[in-house]
Amino acid sequence: MDSDVIIIGAGAAGLMCGAVAGQNGASVILLDHAERAGEKIRISGGGRCNFTNLYCGPDNFISQNPHFAKSALSRYTQYDFLELVERYGIKWHEKTKGQLFCDGRSQEIIDMLLAECSTAGNEIRLGTQVLGVEKIGDGFVVTTPTQTLATRALVIACGGPSIPKMGATGYGYKVAEQFGLNVITPEPALVPLTFTDQLKEPIAALSGMSVDTVVSNERASFDEALLFTHRGLSGPAILQISSYWHSGEAITVNMAPGRDALAELKTAKLQTPKLSPEKWLMSHLPARLAAHLAAQFPFQRLADMPDRELINLALQISAWHIRPAGTEGYRKAEVTRGGVDTDELSSKTMESRKVAGLYFIGEVVDVTGHLGGHNFQWAWASGAACGDALAAQPISGARR
Ligand SMILES: Cc1cc2nc3c(=O)[nH]c(=O)nc-3n(C[C@H](O)[C@H](O)[C@H](O)COP(=O)(O)OP(=O)(O)OC[C@H]3O[C@@H](n4cnc5c(N)ncnc54)[C@H](O)[C@@H]3O)c2cc1C
Repeated sequence: MDSDVIIIGAGAAGLMCGAVAGQNGASVILLDHAERAGEKIRISGGGRCNFTNLYCGPDNFISQNPHFAKSALSRYTQYDFLELVERYGIKWHEKTKGQLFCDGRSQEIIDMLLAECSTAGNEIRLGTQVLGVEKIGDGFVVTTPTQTLATRALVIACGGPSIPKMGATGYGYKVAEQFGLNVITPEPALVPLTFTDQLKEPIAALSGMSVDTVVSNERASFDEALLFTHRGLSGPAILQISSYWHSGEAITVNMAPGRDALAELKTAKLQTPKLSPEKWLMSHLPARLAAHLAAQFPFQRLADMPDRELINLALQISAWHIRPAGTEGYRKAEVTRGGVDTDELSSKTMESRKVAGLYFIGEVVDVTGHLGGHNFQWAWASGAACGDALAAQPISGARR
């Protein structure tokens, strides 16, 4: 054997897994076709890496089996990762809703993980293409353009296909299918939504504007900011709902969260009847958006608006029902929804139930986090669960 463990993918989950397994005695080789480890960590959180979330829990994840992530998340928590970050003296701050970011650059998190892997004696081979993997006897053989490597355990940590220009691929799904494991259809998630119908132009005209909203569909609801873009809608509220959106469905945008727009309009009509609908809207929404909405209601004064029109205006603000044409796709998606079916894996170790010694961790698994540091927490937790399991096994006669 060349090593106890080969990990394909030196990203968030792979680096954590290698560090944990190695520090507990396993010999580990990490292979990655990218020239640098942890590229998605580097670009994450606008370059400051939203590395975890204080309120992270199972409810922050989407999966066909909502219970699957519980075990790993409870055994390696956000506080465990925070303890590691503090041990390395990395300065951090809470931005909003429990989201923890580096004060400095994301590179500090990558350097920390690389240092952990180095302490663990991991060998990291970058710029290494994986041509194929095979099960042979009790172990696996991994073929690269220059070598054939034998290993006792094989960990697939190659993430999902979001942001292909960063080296993201669907290779993990290919390996799963090669070994007969079911894959839940992958789709872009945490992704801007696009419009092609009559809404495209008005939305583009509002490009750059941000409003506080509650965006919802029948599955979920998010109280966050929405951003108008020249191609559609983005911002945290839209990215979050995109993970729950299916093609052809509508979403509802409430631009007056926590308020009763109709009651306020009726009161305004009584108390300030000469106020124009645009002026009233301007006291609640950005001016350009107010002007756009008011243009659909050609009344000079609130007093001129029959109740029917007040209801329509209130609905425009608090229950804007829209049907996106699609998403910006993997090019802009922060994560991939779907992936290796959790029914195929042990929730304790991430090992395949069908193929002994084969493990899947991180984004390649059908566990998708909400925006806000949850996806990294899943990468750390699933990587640590797998690393623990690999370390717990008897060490083979691998070259050290
Ligand atoms: C722009 C952006 C910003 C983000 N910001 C945040 C954030 O702030 N907080 C958060 O929690 N999440 C964030 N995410 C999501 C987060 O980056 C991922 O969920 C996380 O990186 C997944 O970890 P992973 O180890 O499973 O996969 P990755 O980190 O993607 O690592 C996979 C590795 O496998 C390698 N690989 C792929 N295919 C092959 C192959 N065929 N052969 C060899 N190697 C291969 C890749 O090069 C890569 O190094 C962001 C994502 C994006 C795209």
